[in-house]
Amino acid sequence: MIRLTELRLPLGHAEDALRGAVAGRLGVAVEDVGQITIFRRGHDARRRGRIMLVYTVDCTVRDEATVLAAHGGARDIMPAPDTAYRFVIDDGARIAARPGFTRPVVIGAGPCGLMAALVLAQMGLRPLVLERGKVVRERTVDTFALWRRSILTPESNVQFGEGGAGTFSDGKLYSQVSDPRHYGRKVLAEFVRAGAPEEIEYLSRPHIGTFRLVSMVEHIRAEIESLGGEYRFGAHVRDFVMRDDGAGGQRIAALRLADGAEIVTGHVVLAIGHSARDTFESLHAAGVAMVAKPFSIGVRIEHPQSVINTARYSQPEPIPLLGAADYKLVHHAGNGRAVYSFCMCPGGTVVAATSEPGQVVTNGMSQYSRAERNANAGIVVGVTPEQDYPGGPLAGIAFQREWERKAYEAGGGAYFAPAQTVGDFLDGRPSTALGDVVPSYRPGVTPTDLARCLPGFAIDAIREALPHFDRKLAGFSMRDAVMTGVETRTSSPLRIPRGADGQGINVRGLFPAGEGAGYAGGILSAGIDGIRIAEAVALSLAGRKVEQ
Ligand code: FAD
Repeated sequence: MIRLTELRLPLGHAEDALRGAVAGRLGVAVEDVGQITIFRRGHDARRRGRIMLVYTVDCTVRDEATVLAAHGGARDIMPAPDTAYRFVIDDGARIAARPGFTRPVVIGAGPCGLMAALVLAQMGLRPLVLERGKVVRERTVDTFALWRRSILTPESNVQFGEGGAGTFSDGKLYSQVSDPRHYGRKVLAEFVRAGAPEEIEYLSRPHIGTFRLVSMVEHIRAEIESLGGEYRFGAHVRDFVMRDDGAGGQRIAALRLADGAEIVTGHVVLAIGHSARDTFESLHAAGVAMVAKPFSIGVRIEHPQSVINTARYSQPEPIPLLGAADYKLVHHAGNGRAVYSFCMCPGGTVVAATSEPGQVVTNGMSQYSRAERNANAGIVVGVTPEQDYPGGPLAGIAFQREWERKAYEAGGGAYFAPAQTVGDFLDGRPSTALGDVVPSYRPGVTPTDLARCLPGFAIDAIREALPHFDRKLAGFSMRDAVMTGVETRTSSPLRIPRGADGQGINVRGLFPAGEGAGYAGGILSAGIDGIRIAEAVALSLAGRKVEQ
């Protein structure tokens, strides 16, 4: 099998043009090309009106060795890598049958915990999944209660419950993380088996939308249970019980739940996400090493999707093969802050994403069709512990809470969010009314001055960035575009360091993982990290070393 990269064909090309392009690139006759599998398809819309599709394909060809030798050294023609997933142990069932075996426990049923539990179950290690929230269908009812009736359930919301933080999302499934072992392929293959569209395995920027994610996490649960795994919902891990590890350090011995139940275990995957602030406090109190880390803070901006389509595609409608247009923007502001677009959701809605009472947090989601009227994205500014929240590992959480509380106040209560038009924001005056762009955030927004709920440096940096973004994407700083605050949960405010064996640097048996521990940012990278950590747990249970 040969892999070809950077095969560029115009949008709307004839079906057999790909075969011709493959033969042309390889310098062989079309008849000599056998099976072609699209490994990835992206597009390049930089030249307005001349959108190109960009393919990476794997193909068979007559006399493959000779063809490869003829192109030796070419960076775009190479042997296709082996991306098949192989389990790190094959004796999991035997290990699980040993006397005294205690099941590995996975805390959190987000993408990281789900993939960790799935791979552990597939290896025969019968994991126990503890999730503080509810099963996904019940959780949906609670989440809608906040959006429709201003009722927040602190244990069941956009952040907490089966499926984790990404369940009510755009379901974007791409990541920039380095993935030399191709774990991302395994995540996507499992998602397809659970009901995701097959195209996610080859589109360069796939998404699944929120609706399908709900049934996918149910499918994954069914598979984990069928393999001997177990779930407990409403199982809020409150305390971490340690014992002496016999070498001067400590080792995890048990977990204590909020209802007082104690679960004895020697292996814990900590996949709690970035919003489990109470659990971070418990871990800190138990002496688990952690450090504050940078994240970002800002607003969600909304434009008519037709404005974004026109800027990217030169037409207001979406292009059928490509869908509604997206964007990615960065600006380095004069005050030293980076401003960038975050979690862009074409044709989607802005959602209330708080998990704590009396706070307002924004994020974005969409359906698979991405057919809503507005495009939205976070416009966020980097913050660092050194500059913005010195004072220890938990100081970033205090910083987030402060601005989330101010946003609640500026919104006027009942989880209404503060909002301002771009025109008023650029002029430096509070909004008293909004214009033609109707904000999608529910339960509702209150026109005001966003300077009431964001640090001055963030306001300055965003004010400087918007006209720059407009030069890259015409219409971006249109006066009626709406900005809704505040976006504070862009990534975890802390990191729980782990060693090469996946275990916490000062607690044996605790495997920090996913976004909350600072090892992922997004659904795909959280799933990848879940696999990585499941392997580390399996090797530890088997008494073998993690390969570097
Ligand atoms: P989480 O998904 O946060 O899961 C952690 C789980 O742990 C939760 O279910 C929580 O209830 C549980 N938990 C926490 N503490 C405890 C405890 N003490 N005891 C028991 N259980 C506990 N990413 C993308 O890649 N694409 C997107 O389109 C996208 N859109 C998003 C839209 C929204 C509205 C939000 C909120 C996030 C979005 N993200 C998106 C980010 C993505 O959801 C996260 O990066 C990802 O979910 C992190 O996975 P995780 O498993 O590490 O943590």
